[in-house]
Amino acid sequence: MKAILAGLALFLTHSSMVSAQTADASEALKAAIENPNDDEIVEEFIETLIEAPQGSGFFIVEGDIIITRGEVPSYLRNRQLVDDEEAAGSAKVSSELIVNIVAGKYDFLREPEDRNLTYFFDQSTFRSSEEAELTLSSFVNGATSWTNACPECGVSFTRVESAEEASFVIAFLDDIDGPIARAFFPSYPKDMWRIEVFPAYFSDTMSFDRTGVMRHEIGHILGFRHEHINDVPGCSSEGGTYKPITPYTPGSVMHYLCGEGGSFDLGLRSSDIEGFRCLYTKGDQCMFVE
Ligand SMILES: [Zn+2]
Repeated sequence: MKAILAGLALFLTHSSMVSAQTADASEALKAAIENPNDDEIVEEFIETLIEAPQGSGFFIVEGDIIITRGEVPSYLRNRQLVDDEEAAGSAKVSSELIVNIVAGKYDFLREPEDRNLTYFFDQSTFRSSEEAELTLSSFVNGATSWTNACPECGVSFTRVESAEEASFVIAFLDDIDGPIARAFFPSYPKDMWRIEVFPAYFSDTMSFDRTGVMRHEIGHILGFRHEHINDVPGCSSEGGTYKPITPYTPGSVMHYLCGEGGSFDLGLRSSDIEGFRCLYTKGDQCMFVE
């Protein structure tokens, strides 16, 4: 599992959180994984994907990861590797908390100065001041959950007044087909350092706690991937490279509603806090027995 999806971004979606995938889409994915170099088959697979925003060239795969059209073949080849390992019985059973790996190293905010995060809240992108205030207060509460969980980890979030001086931007993206929210990994290029919320975030039918959604997105910013990432029955696997640092926890903030795991409050569990502390104070995984 060495392929790296350089342009991938993470999306929290309603459909993926209940693990919905149509039979056609799953057939197209299967065919494309088997034939990643066949342009026609790959195109048929791309046609089953949601493009968000429309016309952007960004496609959501597995409900939660966004890749560019050009990255689709490498994503498919990576999936093939994962599938081969599963078939050979050599894939590890998922454990939590799971950290993204880039070039063989943990993808996290390694340097103490990188942990003093600043953000620009782009109020002008929102449809109303009520939605802007809801988003901002949810973000602040979500960020406080993480920083209070491990003060010694040295992570802070400070609001600044311009995008130029900010580590990242928080904005609304008015795309009805979009997911609930999206975030980024520490290794992403700086122009992708954005937290965006979509209309679904404000929907009356949105079941997730809005602060919880922000906690989940901030988990990605800190380098954490989905807990159900690998081999949890009923959950989809994901591409890329990653490593568990604590034992699997179905209730983790980073777990979707699948495989009998997940939660609507998306709260920090003791293993989330433990994994955060190990990574950010030791730079390594916690000691655990699988
Ligand atoms: Zn996510």
